[in-house]
Amino acid sequence: MDAESLIATHVKGMRPYEPIAPLDVLSRRLGLPPEKIVKLDANENPYGTSPRALEAVACSRELHIYPDPDQTALREALSAFVGVPMEHILCGAGGDEVIDLVGRAFVEPGQMVVDLPPTFGMYKWEADVLGAQYVKVPRRADFSVDVDAVEGSVRALEASGVPPKLLFVTNPNNPDGSVTSRSNLLRLLELPVIVVVDEAYIDFSTQQSLAPLVPERDNLIVLRTFSKLAGMAGLRVGYGVFPLPIIKHLWKVKQPYTPNVAGTVMAIAAMQDRPWLDQSVIAITAERQRMSDALRELGWITPFPSETNFVLCRIGGGRDAKAVKLAIEKWGVLVRYFDKDGLRDCLRISVGKPEHTDALIAALRAA
Ligand code: PMP
Repeated sequence: MDAESLIATHVKGMRPYEPIAPLDVLSRRLGLPPEKIVKLDANENPYGTSPRALEAVACSRELHIYPDPDQTALREALSAFVGVPMEHILCGAGGDEVIDLVGRAFVEPGQMVVDLPPTFGMYKWEADVLGAQYVKVPRRADFSVDVDAVEGSVRALEASGVPPKLLFVTNPNNPDGSVTSRSNLLRLLELPVIVVVDEAYIDFSTQQSLAPLVPERDNLIVLRTFSKLAGMAGLRVGYGVFPLPIIKHLWKVKQPYTPNVAGTVMAIAAMQDRPWLDQSVIAITAERQRMSDALRELGWITPFPSETNFVLCRIGGGRDAKAVKLAIEKWGVLVRYFDKDGLRDCLRISVGKPEHTDALIAALRAA
């Protein structure tokens, strides 16, 4: 029997998601000890988790027990943290799982998902997994959302009798760090489509979250995560804020025991340590400015303005962005290169601690 021929057709033709390698794997690949690696390639928060979160997990006596499938304590804490009733909140193993649940609950094979690239790759991955039709409305050259074009595209699909199901808007956007204004988001919410606003990086921006609007809007979903603000990327805790008629269906397609107990206990403790969260935002936004200035001073790098914990940089001076990435990798400095339209002359650099910026600049000079 040719077992592989039985794989679903849309999966056979699918390109895998390209995830980031972890420290130990990188360490072996580069022949450098992990402490010598400056990891600025995955928008992790170098300040890590609050000491209170570490203490909470060390003291937990429930690690051998399955997590609460209703996520009661975590959702209660989030309700106060986000300012919406807990009935609107559902948590998953990272924002990634919540994106997956939204896709599963709404999209049938062949139905349409609208995306605004260049942006986070997980929405396209989700569309591919579901055998959905992926409709792109590219951002402008400055990465702003072309709201007229999105409206035109969604209205045209509606007029043809097949309105799209989901529209993903990342605010602020990954990989460039730009924001979409509240007035433009409100315009998009007038469209006949579910608008998923991914606010993974909003804590590093001047933008107000749309989460408090969710209870008044039938077609708004807001996604957030503990990976960036709370330095918990390895623990996999994210959440979504949903209208009530939608959320009851999300619970049905969710496996029961995510997030895990360690992530849950730590996320609750992290929310109780507001000074820690605030301090890391202050340190990261200050370092974002210092890093952008230092990169600009090199003379051949143009950083884009960013409201996130990373900075997209255009590489000039006749240099090739991918070659620069590989050259600084030899010095143990890792940044992200995207082999994608509109990004081939760019590198995305996460904001680290001051000493990480210093190592980055030294490696760029040496390269
Ligand atoms: N949304 C965006 C825009 C992201 O960049 C990321 C992570 N890189 C996520 C969601 C998901 O993050 P996590 O699964 O770690 O919560």
